Amino acid sequence: MTLINPNHINGPQLINKLVVIGIGLIGGSLAAGLKKRGICKEVIGIARSEETCSAAVNLNVVDRAYTSLKSIANELTAGDVIFISVPTLSVQSVLQEIKECVSSVVTITDGASVKGNVQAAAEVVYGEVPAQFVLGHPIAGSEKSGVSAANPDLYENHRCILTPLASTGAEHLDLVTRMWQSVGAEVLTMSVAEHDEVLGATSHLPHAIAYSLVDTLAHDINNPNIFRYAAGGFRDFTRIASSDPIMWHDIMRANKTGVLHALDMFIANLTRLRTSIENEDSQYMLDVFTRAKVVRDDFTANFAKPNVAKNVVKKDAAKND
Ligand code: NAP
Repeated sequence: MTLINPNHINGPQLINKLVVIGIGLIGGSLAAGLKKRGICKEVIGIARSEETCSAAVNLNVVDRAYTSLKSIANELTAGDVIFISVPTLSVQSVLQEIKECVSSVVTITDGASVKGNVQAAAEVVYGEVPAQFVLGHPIAGSEKSGVSAANPDLYENHRCILTPLASTGAEHLDLVTRMWQSVGAEVLTMSVAEHDEVLGATSHLPHAIAYSLVDTLAHDINNPNIFRYAAGGFRDFTRIASSDPIMWHDIMRANKTGVLHALDMFIANLTRLRTSIENEDSQYMLDVFTRAKVVRDDFTANFAKPNVAKNVVKKDAAKND
């Protein structure tokens, strides 16, 4: 993992035109954040429906919006950025459309939560990942979705991981790095494989567990009043089970290897804990709970905010997604 230090704070209008494809929480927040800070000359949204286009303009998330990229593709040139922020498994079809109508000098980046399958999608569409495409993933978000959830300050004091490849153009990587820094994010780089392994464990595994836990309580335990007795701990632990099902379906499919690896380790650990409860093995339980408490307290103190962890080179745990 490499930390990229902000060498200079970007002046206004770092970017000429920003085009956000998929104006939901992640894309809408980047659009609104760049607009609020005056970083782009113009912000254009592309959505599937007229309703989303109107909402994005009315909420001041974008300057104008269209239901087709082709409507504005020939306006785009060097210094313009396309940000793809659709569910992970839809990235390939978006890349196909971009290839058909967008110049190779335009910078392209994305925010999808899995990078291996986005790399594979780009290779299917272009033959190899083109120099203009910088794969990325902001480690920020929430269980909310859609353009109405857009928040111009979402990325302040959060990390953004970029996974450049040998083919990535330096000028495109630099522009995307400065774009994220300009909305307050700390940019790091790592390999695609490391990204998917780390996020499989720190983000995708907790979401799988949270969905499964709520589903267990709702369907497998035969008590219609069960949630009446749930307290703050349940609410905190399961907040992420309110996240968008399609988005998380796509992530589990796209990062199958990373998620299965993390799930297998977790199931083995949980099975050992189950055995210790069955055998009334207090020493084992106390060891696990004490070790976990130390790690959780250390995470809260040192890693929960990037500005605290700035000089610590260590694998990061994801705050959200
Ligand atoms: P979102 O709020 O649901 O927004 C997704 C947007 O994509 C919506 O505007 C939606 O359009 C559009 N869209 C959906 N399916 C599409 C398709 N097949 N083709 C074209 N557009 C489509 O989701 P989000 O949370 O912003 O997530 C966007 C991406 O960011 C995902 O890849 C996700 O993995 C990643 N991500 C999410 C988080 C998080 O915490 N939420 C964090 C980091 C990264 P309509 O308005 O027409 O439905």
